[in-house]
Amino acid sequence: MEEGARSCLLQSRSSLEQDIRASYLMDHMISDGVLTGDEEDRIRSKPTRREQAAALLELLLRKDNQAYISFYNALVRESYGDLASLLHNSLPLVSPEAEKSFSDGGTRYVQAVLSEGGVPQRPVVFVSRPALMNRVREKLYRLQKEPGWVTVFGMAGSGKSVLAAEAVRDHALITECFPGGVHWLSIGQLDRSDLLVRIQSLCFRLEQQSQEKDPSSSLHRPPGSLEEAKERLRFLMLRRYPRSLLILDDIWDSSVLKAFDIQCRVLLTTRDRSLAECVSGPKSEVAVESGLEEGQALEILALYVNRKPQRLPEQARSIVRECKGSPLVVSLIGALLREFPDRWAYYLHTLQQKKFKRIRKSSSYDYDALDQAMAASIQVLSKEHRELYIDLTVLEKDVKVPAKVLSVLWDLEPEEVEDVLQDFVNKSLLFRDCHHRPYLYYLHDLQLDFLAEMNRSGLESLHTKVVRQYQQRYSQGPPTSGDEECLYWFRFLTYHMAKANLTQELYSLMFSLDWVRTKAQIMGPAHLINDYLEYSTILDKEVRGHFQEFLSLNGHQLEQRPFPDVVQLALSQPDSSEVYRQALLQAQERATRG
Ligand code: ADP
Repeated sequence: MEEGARSCLLQSRSSLEQDIRASYLMDHMISDGVLTGDEEDRIRSKPTRREQAAALLELLLRKDNQAYISFYNALVRESYGDLASLLHNSLPLVSPEAEKSFSDGGTRYVQAVLSEGGVPQRPVVFVSRPALMNRVREKLYRLQKEPGWVTVFGMAGSGKSVLAAEAVRDHALITECFPGGVHWLSIGQLDRSDLLVRIQSLCFRLEQQSQEKDPSSSLHRPPGSLEEAKERLRFLMLRRYPRSLLILDDIWDSSVLKAFDIQCRVLLTTRDRSLAECVSGPKSEVAVESGLEEGQALEILALYVNRKPQRLPEQARSIVRECKGSPLVVSLIGALLREFPDRWAYYLHTLQQKKFKRIRKSSSYDYDALDQAMAASIQVLSKEHRELYIDLTVLEKDVKVPAKVLSVLWDLEPEEVEDVLQDFVNKSLLFRDCHHRPYLYYLHDLQLDFLAEMNRSGLESLHTKVVRQYQQRYSQGPPTSGDEECLYWFRFLTYHMAKANLTQELYSLMFSLDWVRTKAQIMGPAHLINDYLEYSTILDKEVRGHFQEFLSLNGHQLEQRPFPDVVQLALSQPDSSEVYRQALLQAQERATRG
């Protein structure tokens, strides 16, 4: 029953109790199909007229809009016109128009089911993600005939919970698949005793609702252990709430999920894709992209500041670009801008400077600030995996690496590396580009920024580790296969050396004719020229000049295939050049070797 009608009944309760004769009214209500014969008997069994009236009203309060209307009509027919007029203004509308009248697309019925089940409302500022939502609904439809699991996974703040709540805001889905209702349970990170409390309160809620519908069912004492709680829940879902959906929001731990392995229908949101592997029954999953499209993200900002997207200042686009359209970040900043509408440049700067702590909670989001949301994901890794994850701090933004690079960095067998990466990918801490074979891995910009901020003081040693691991693996000379791994080292070894402050080693590498030859052969001379420019402030100016001159004079030759003899080319440099000196040494060596 809708709120207004219920409230009106409660307010008029004592007048109604005083006057009505329940036995007269119940006949009409039975013929309208809103009251059963059993219910009538129970009410008639009360000894006095007043108690019968009270019992009918009590029952009515637990019923729907139709029952209210039927009761009203019965009052009119039995000449209780003055009492009927008390209820008249709150008569619910049940026309199809009224059913469609909610701005969020749900009907009154949907709203009643969802609010009874504790499903959160739409955020005040909301943009729809239709393709994604349809994917979730399509998976939910698979639960129509049999129990099973739908996993919605994605990184922190990608909008999983909002999406889960939105997906069930649909009349047809609820009536066709989940007529038993939708029950929302927020989980998060919790231990066994917290979990027990959560399930206890879910059982309590379910039992209470079921008792309202059927007063003959009794309330039990709360289950005392997790095992007992699981059995109680199993009973309730099977007997009292068949064909209902349980939404478990923000699950971290497979042991938590096992407590719900009771053959019911479950939608779960998580950062860890693999969680449902530990439970039985049919499973399907939906990946939530980490960012919104630019237009949608701008729409959120526009809604917060109450302007049209076209009229947003230029920083709006930069903010969206900077956070890659993360719904969480865009909403956090949008909410801040609503309070301080002149701070576009300031918040953009804050984001660019990675001052995540300033981007504080302003919505219903569970984490106080963005940094906590990120940190939470890392904290659940095992100690060894956490250390390995921190090593990824040294990756450059937008650079994708093959597992082999990480196998060098971590000194692990390829299979072990794959296991570790799988764990990260499952927990939405890392992304995998499956368009390449072998797969390439990369971090979201926000994750990289967060890692860099977290390990600011250890950056130098993290880069040093990369260099040392490379040197250990390739002590006999650089890789020459030309595969993704080999390309990585040729592109980024110098970068890691520079960041590690290993100036001497950077010198030796970049001023080595061997390195120049191999890199030019694999990647072409342009990259090399770029390197000399990039590290111009660190490298010795004179020697750098020798190499740059050699490259610019011979660039076209170094593009040729078959690849020219670099020693021969270098011998035509002036004899004061370092390039010439090394070429001469190599030529002499060749001569002595014959
Ligand atoms: P997750 O569950 O993936 O951690 P949430 O669903 O809790 O993320 O979303 C985080 C925040 O992002 C929400 O509090 C909300 O402010 C914002 N958000 C998510 N999805 C949307 C959306 N579709 N429209 C507007 N804001 C959204």
